[in-house]
Amino acid sequence: MRFHKSESAFFVFIAVILAAGLVIFHAYDVLSDSTDALYQPERMAGFAYLAKLLFATGVLLATALVFGVFFIFPLIRTQVKEEGKLRAMTVSLSARSETLEHAALTDGLTGMQNRRYFDDALKEYLDEFRRIDKPVGLMIFDLDHFKQVNDTHGHDVGDEVLRAVAGCLKDMTRYHDVVARLGGEEFAVVAPNMDHDLLVKLAERIRKGIAAMPILSGNVRLKITASVGLAVWDRKESAEDFFRRADKQLYEAKRQGRNRVSA
Ligand code: GH3
Ligand code: MG
Ligand code: MG
Repeated sequence: MRFHKSESAFFVFIAVILAAGLVIFHAYDVLSDSTDALYQPERMAGFAYLAKLLFATGVLLATALVFGVFFIFPLIRTQVKEEGKLRAMTVSLSARSETLEHAALTDGLTGMQNRRYFDDALKEYLDEFRRIDKPVGLMIFDLDHFKQVNDTHGHDVGDEVLRAVAGCLKDMTRYHDVVARLGGEEFAVVAPNMDHDLLVKLAERIRKGIAAMPILSGNVRLKITASVGLAVWDRKESAEDFFRRADKQLYEAKRQGRNRVSA
């Protein structure tokens, strides 16, 4: 077993104090022998010895004091400082890993969850809802003719539209709905506890909300619309098959002329 420097210092300190204690104890012994003989000159040597013992005790205690002040205390200070540094490093490391994790699951442009988060969340919701008898709905939104928005008004205006759509989706969904940007101008919402009719109503409300967004490019008001594909989980299909079914409905909404919900 290896001792740390501060542990060894502590043992030495205790040993010195102990030695001082033993000397005092011995001196007490000598003194109790000597009190009866206070007036016997031949026992006077005992007092001289006692004085030596007291001196030795003083030296030992002074050694302990010097050792404690100049060696143990600086050691403790260094250790406290190192511990502080270590703690600060741990805090900054864990903050950094939280930031990294957050960045890996967040869409940089809109600040909403990204595709990676969405895929995991959808699987987790289905696993959870497999056990309870409640429906899970999925909506996929794709902005209509978005390429034209970029081509006509520029990429920056396109980005602003994407941020506005993200805000609209966040505002119109509930706390426990998963709202994500899947990529490009495509968004998705996982809405638990919603049957088919409720889901269609919600999708219609959001579609109208997007169409009503007041987005200006200069003094031109942009007309942004979205097509929506939706599906309610059939309780058997995998997350991938569920997503594919909603995606097919999105394709159908586009095929039927866009700016509509297909279920
Ligand atoms: P459709 O109605 O069939 O969906 O037509 P669309 O033009 O919306 O679809 P398309 O897939 O042809 O074009 C999508 C466009 O989205 C092309 C790309 O420039 C634009 N886009 C993708 N990501 C971004 C982005 O982060 N910012 C901006 N401004 N545009 C983006
Ligand atoms: Mg698209
Ligand atoms: Mg599109």
